[in-house]
Amino acid sequence: MSDYDVLVIGGGIAGRTAGSFTARAGLKTAVFDAGESILRRNAHLENFPGFPVGVNPRLLLDLMREQAERAGCEWVDNEVVDVDRHPKTGFVVKTADSDEWAYRGERVLVATPGRFNYLRELPVETVTEEGKQFVEATSSGRTSVDGIYVAGRMAGKPLQAAIAAGHGAEVAVGLLKDSDAPYAFDWSVPAGYFTERGREIPPGVEEVFPEDRHERERRSLEVMRNHFSERHPEEPDSHPDI
Ligand SMILES: Cc1cc2nc3c(=O)[nH]c(=O)nc-3n(C[C@H](O)[C@H](O)[C@H](O)COP(=O)(O)OP(=O)(O)OC[C@H]3O[C@@H](n4cnc5c(N)ncnc54)[C@H](O)[C@@H]3O)c2cc1C
Repeated sequence: MSDYDVLVIGGGIAGRTAGSFTARAGLKTAVFDAGESILRRNAHLENFPGFPVGVNPRLLLDLMREQAERAGCEWVDNEVVDVDRHPKTGFVVKTADSDEWAYRGERVLVATPGRFNYLRELPVETVTEEGKQFVEATSSGRTSVDGIYVAGRMAGKPLQAAIAAGHGAEVAVGLLKDSDAPYAFDWSVPAGYFTERGREIPPGVEEVFPEDRHERERRSLEVMRNHFSERHPEEPDSHPDI
């Protein structure tokens, strides 16, 4: 059985963001993804921050997966069909390709917008609003079951990609606070920002010297130039009813 600190179910916008945050904080994170982000159906994404003339949503998903994997997330391209408690601690997960409980995680972060039937073994409380069923959760995604968190649509959030990303990050930070990981800002600042004022560098903050900063910028320009050099090969997914 593979062992993780965090199992993120759903590798769309919310899950890719949440996984990046937990992995960057040093938690061993697996992201399970059945590969059907609803954003793949969008024609051209115009309202995601940082893209003044919009962005191909399939390219955005590629970029976010690359970011999550660079942060340390392990990707499981498979559908989660069942989640239950581990007899000792945490939770176990079964995927569609196997009868085994092949994954154990201390915490589970649910980021699937349309369904959560795989949680049926657990007493997760739900709430119905305007005919739709959501998982009952605090603003930072804690549910009625300790160790299970929910981000994005299933927590009742509106269906916008920027909100899914923001809530994924918020829920990940809440999860980190509940875990053994030391609370970290996950900021980078120019060298001297704290130390030149005689202040300690806060946990999870990195002071970056100019040479290193220029190298990081050079690498990011190179990677982004490659991604944006030509059209994305995939066409939008059609609606499942079609
Ligand atoms: C046609 C269309 C156009 C849209 N246009 C816009 C727009 O212009 N602007 C905007 O802000 N938003 C738009 N949206 C909404 C946007 O796509 C969503 O807000 C966003 O994708 C939600 O992110 P998410 O991570 O919650 O879900 P998703 O991005 O859908 O990701 C969920 C992931 O979970 C996976 N999954 C589901 N069940 C399981 C399981 N059991 N096991 C493993 N993985 C699972 C899915 O395969 C999917 O990859 C549009 C949506 C549609 C349908």
